Amino acid sequence: MRYRSTRGDGSEDYSFEQALFSGYAPDGGLFVPASLPQLAAVEHLIPWSRLTFPELCYEILRLFISQNEISNIDLREICYKSLSAEDFDDDNIVPIKKMGSVFVAELFHGPTFCFKDLGMRPVINLLSHFAKIRNQATTLLVATTGDTGPAAVRAVGDASNPLLTILVHYPHGQISEFQRKSLTTVDSKCVRIVSFEGGGDDMDSPIKQTLLNCNDSDGADKKRSFCGVNSYNIGRPLVQMVHFIWIYLRVAKKLGITPGDENIKIDVVLPTGAMGNMTGGYMAKQMGIPIGRLCAGVNINDITKRVIETGLFQKKKIQKTLSDAINIEVPYNFERILFYLTNGNASLVKQWMETMEQTQMLRLNPSWHHKLQADFQSARITDDETCRALRQTLETYHYVVDPHTAVAIAAADRLGYSVFDERSENENPVVVLATASPCKFQEAVTAALGPDGWKQYRQTSFPSRAQQTLEMRENEPHHFCWIEGATLSEVQSDWRKKMLDIVDKHF
Ligand SMILES: *Cc1c(COP(=O)(O)O)cnc(C)c1O
Repeated sequence: MRYRSTRGDGSEDYSFEQALFSGYAPDGGLFVPASLPQLAAVEHLIPWSRLTFPELCYEILRLFISQNEISNIDLREICYKSLSAEDFDDDNIVPIKKMGSVFVAELFHGPTFCFKDLGMRPVINLLSHFAKIRNQATTLLVATTGDTGPAAVRAVGDASNPLLTILVHYPHGQISEFQRKSLTTVDSKCVRIVSFEGGGDDMDSPIKQTLLNCNDSDGADKKRSFCGVNSYNIGRPLVQMVHFIWIYLRVAKKLGITPGDENIKIDVVLPTGAMGNMTGGYMAKQMGIPIGRLCAGVNINDITKRVIETGLFQKKKIQKTLSDAINIEVPYNFERILFYLTNGNASLVKQWMETMEQTQMLRLNPSWHHKLQADFQSARITDDETCRALRQTLETYHYVVDPHTAVAIAAADRLGYSVFDERSENENPVVVLATASPCKFQEAVTAALGPDGWKQYRQTSFPSRAQQTLEMRENEPHHFCWIEGATLSEVQSDWRKKMLDIVDKHF
């Protein structure tokens, strides 16, 4: 399988390795596979419904990575190692529960209690594999306020390949104790953590500049590669397709549906930020998985809801919420959604994205807007509504969820799926994606259930591995100070130098 840019005419193509290491395509677009294979019931879905999660991951990735890039044996080992039952606290990796008539897919049983583990671990083991073959130092650069950093740090630590290293930056004092400890307690020579004095996204530009400079020259020949692993990297949506297909197959089995039966579609509701998870679902749907509507639960940072409802894609300033992993100004994977919505019309996508970059807004014409509405829905959920959904889920189902899952539950309820009562306005079965464990979100759970509610959860249901994280010794992170009297861009250029110094000195 070759890869292409969402903005290119398809004449330039790239290997999987090139796409994985480059992050962004050279023309500023995002990488996508050159084509999406169509899945057939007899050949794929029926036999796949008997596979374990890592086996399914192998079968799907095999369709997207050619054998001359990675052999069957190596790819299998990468999938098994990334998704082993030892590192996940549920043998099914992604177990599916039932709340009334609604299915809940728990995507948070990985080592850092969040769905990011599912996409990140295979991506990092794939990078590690190529770094060994190239015999090239490869350094991942990440800025994080949430779940991406911990998942990446943990996966790099577990890969224990001296050629593969990671530098993670978090804004000092602005992440929770649990998130901080998930970063600072990983004890590995391959991992360095930095706290910086600034706003959550002040480190983005120094990182982006380093990645861009590095991608100017030719990849595999340099002494060191720098890589970004946020969901603009095609590896993430590609691997995230696996859990959508897994969930479809498992739910089909529970409902007695023959896998691939086009007459019964399954709708999915998920808390949505950068739309990386959504893109995995949409790609699976394009490959013939009978997924009905993809429904985005968003908080008051509602750009995704607004574009689906009005056709106008326009950013607004970010506001603080209890579900901060989905606080987003511009969901970059919308570009991939548009690419598939238009059946791969890259020149139109290029035109749209350039309009967006130049005018900070994009208006879809009515026919594209209707097409978007045919495949997607969205509901906007305030913090009060998030808290109410969390309480109602506990009262009705004795189940404590995290604030992001609560956003999806409230969204499902709003969109007419019968979450808390029997009458449903929708015909299709529905699955809510539970993207994190409540153990990571003391502040939000306490806001919803009160200090006693948190205490009770802590005593009865807190995962023991999470308890260990809290008790482990923290390593002192590096610290980047703000320079008194300097401008942001001066500070950022100083940080960029410091960042490269750490890489030189420690990796
Ligand atoms: C990252 C994240 C999301 C959003 O996923 P996107 O792919 O960015 O849309 C939802 N929930 C949690 C807990 C997350 O960490």
